[in-house]
Amino acid sequence: MPAITADDITALPHIPLPAPDATQRRILSITTAPHGLEGEGFPVRRAFAGADPRHLDPFVHLDQMGEVEYAPGEPKGTPWHPHRGFETVTYMIDGTFQHQDSNGGGGLITNGDTQWMTAGRGILHIERPPEALIASGGLFHGFQLWVNLPAAEKWTPPRYQDIRANKVSLVTTYDGGTLLRVIAGEVAGHEGPGVTHTPISMAHATLSPGARMVLPWPRDFNALVYVLSGRGTVGPDARPVAGGQLAVFGDGDVITVTADQQQESRAPHLDVLLLGGRPIREPVAWYGPFVMNTHAEIAQALADYQAGKLGVIPADHIGN
Ligand code: MN
Repeated sequence: MPAITADDITALPHIPLPAPDATQRRILSITTAPHGLEGEGFPVRRAFAGADPRHLDPFVHLDQMGEVEYAPGEPKGTPWHPHRGFETVTYMIDGTFQHQDSNGGGGLITNGDTQWMTAGRGILHIERPPEALIASGGLFHGFQLWVNLPAAEKWTPPRYQDIRANKVSLVTTYDGGTLLRVIAGEVAGHEGPGVTHTPISMAHATLSPGARMVLPWPRDFNALVYVLSGRGTVGPDARPVAGGQLAVFGDGDVITVTADQQQESRAPHLDVLLLGGRPIREPVAWYGPFVMNTHAEIAQALADYQAGKLGVIPADHIGN
């Protein structure tokens, strides 16, 4: 897992333990992500499947892409396709993804990089492994998160942000046992580089065996922990979790994740994705690549797409 790391974790800024009277957030649900296929057929795990959408708000969708070891010629992506009404956040842990959109955005993201695309009022894009990686095959592992936009911002102009791995804020916990990579928003006052319309926090944490991560979490944010690999427990009742599981936390001040002392040798750490955001609390009409408030807006999005109003595939486009 070559997402950005630190030579000496103990030299990083430490997040102090929250006050002992801070309210622990309890666990509302733990769900296991089913396997599926996306785009031209790349393997994903649907991380949010089975969770209550009200607990996920402002997030609507999370795919763990891979982890998969491709044979030469096998890597797959998506064809050109539209989006409207939300933001896509793609975080690559292993491997490389190439992106191009109808708004002039695009680039390569690899090993710890994040790409943030605000679809807003409409965009076309393609996401695929670069030609060299298709030829060679190799390891591929990442995430794509969909962050909803409130009605007032669904028509915002599209925007593209490249967040390089070396821009991510690296911090540790009071015991130095956890490496936290803050990608967007802030965790305990440590800000990540991602700029979001909807207030959120996003971080990737790696816990050493036996480490306990106790983090202050904004009261007005929801709190989600998705386990990439390893074993541990979450919440004040130490509910067990393992790779491919999503824990939803309830209200309170603090979230706790603890890594088991014994881990499997193929995944010696507990790796989790931390997500929090301010709920939008509006009706959600979601159809395919569009996330709007009403069915009429979905019909409008389909009509606008068919009329070419969501964007034009650039002349120098990649893929097909
Ligand atoms: Mn897409």
